[in-house]
Amino acid sequence: MPIARVWIEDGCIVCNACETACPEVFHVTEDTCHIRAAVRADGKEDTNRDARAPLADDYGATLEEQIIEAAEGCPVEVIKYERA
Ligand code: SF4
Repeated sequence: MPIARVWIEDGCIVCNACETACPEVFHVTEDTCHIRAAVRADGKEDTNRDARAPLADDYGATLEEQIIEAAEGCPVEVIKYERA
């Protein structure tokens, strides 16, 4: 089952590991990590913590492995995702 949505909880330490694992989805800024607008159905870029916007198109399937790798590699476990 593909991943439906991805978001970042509070506490990101801007380590860059997620952007290295999956640059299509994760964009590390000065103080947190964002979910890129290009892969979001709502076309906005932020943590997606409040909106919980779904992933656009079939990104939840095509990038599934990289998203899981990023979430498992986050040292403070703030990358959260839900399946469809
Ligand atoms: S891996 Fe986790 S702590 Fe590191 S930048 Fe990404 S969300 Fe932040």
